[in-house]
Amino acid sequence: HMLGAGGLVSGTGLSMSGSLLAGSQSKAARVVVVGGGFGGATAAKYIRKLDPSVTVTLIEPNKRYTTCPGSNWVLGGLRDMKSITHDYSKLVNDHGVKVVHDRVTSIDARSRKLTLNSGDSINYDRLVVSPGIDFRWDTIEGYDATVAEEIPHAWQAGPQTALLHQQLKAMKNGGTVIIAAPPNPFRCPPGPYERASMIAHYLKENKPRSKLLILDAKDKFSKQGLFTKGWEALYGYGTENSLIEWLPQDKGGKVIGVESGSRTVLTDFGKHKADVLNVIPAQKAAKLAEIAGLTDDTGWCPVHPGTFESTIHKGIHVIGDASIASPLPKSGYAANSEAKVCAFAVVAMLKGQEPGTPTWVNTCYSLVGPRYGISVAMVYELTAAGKLSKVKGAGGVTPMDGNFRLEAAYTESWYDNIINDVFG
Ligand code: FAD
Repeated sequence: HMLGAGGLVSGTGLSMSGSLLAGSQSKAARVVVVGGGFGGATAAKYIRKLDPSVTVTLIEPNKRYTTCPGSNWVLGGLRDMKSITHDYSKLVNDHGVKVVHDRVTSIDARSRKLTLNSGDSINYDRLVVSPGIDFRWDTIEGYDATVAEEIPHAWQAGPQTALLHQQLKAMKNGGTVIIAAPPNPFRCPPGPYERASMIAHYLKENKPRSKLLILDAKDKFSKQGLFTKGWEALYGYGTENSLIEWLPQDKGGKVIGVESGSRTVLTDFGKHKADVLNVIPAQKAAKLAEIAGLTDDTGWCPVHPGTFESTIHKGIHVIGDASIASPLPKSGYAANSEAKVCAFAVVAMLKGQEPGTPTWVNTCYSLVGPRYGISVAMVYELTAAGKLSKVKGAGGVTPMDGNFRLEAAYTESWYDNIINDVFG
């Protein structure tokens, strides 16, 4: 019963640390992973791969996970929801991960115990938390979780994606679609602009008299030069007949209010009326991170970059979008990379060993059109001073005269490969 419960053991006056105990006793060390998205599913799988003697329990409320990557392609009519929805059967059957479909309601860092919605509780020796994001509902007047059931954010994939897709299909030819893009930092920096591209593609094919307006809370965005070039090539951007218009913050792009009944948005400069309205609010770490006291006053979770262990609570690692891992972006690929670094660290720390010195990698692909892809890539390292930094000279973006068709093929194979790595 005492195994690995660091608090209990030290309470008895024994000098052995929890991690040493867990490594040297016959009873298996227990790792619990919260959240079965890109970060959590990868961490659960890789901890088992690195040390099959560790008992890994993954807690995730949903039986199936719909990926945000690829969800813009559904809006463009390139994919269906089924092709971006995955389950946990391979984690269970091929990797021996125990999966519990429930929601974590609280975490007690001192006694290393968490409580589930069902009322059950689970003890752990180390905890990995990858709960994703939540929205700052107080930043746009008139927009909240209830209004989002009619006016989707579609920034967590699943029913929200299906709702936006259905509204686009129901819209008349000649309608106006508005996307309100969020301020930094947010999940998937190129995501709103890939979404704009895919919706423009759908409109061009099906409702060519329609328009798409991006109202942006920022003055610049990821891969802007490449997106702009693609929009010029495919959607007449910059001409009088452009399908897409982008209004930066300094030209009145920042949405400050929503009148849901008339699908009208308010900015500092005036009003815009939409037929289909997609509001993506400002973001913060998922609610659980806040409840567990893992967030600081930025609303995100500070971590030691070498291990992703929380700087607030020992024994708890936070990975994925919820963590502060800048300059790594909040992306699925980055979450996958952080999860592997974290898995190595967790396995080492359970054995009382020093974690190694990690590197990370990220690539964000975006489709501008079905056969038009662009990407940004970067490698990251831990400096001698313990700082997560970009490796000078590594990575970069697709050249302006790059092979966009080939990049589109890479975009789709990236998806298949990462899904196989996370859930396969
Ligand atoms: P998530 O994947 O959101 O997983 C969190 C999980 O935790 C969820 O399954 C949730 O149910 C669970 N959870 C939450 N609270 C609890 C709780 N209390 N108890 C138990 N479980 C809980 N990234 C890319 O790399 N490439 C792309 O092309 C790309 N495209 C994107 C397109 C769009 C439109 C969007 C919105 C995002 C895109 N992303 C992309 C970003 C990517 O989706 C996220 O960065 C990634 O999902 C982060 O992983 P995560 O593990 O932090 O969170």
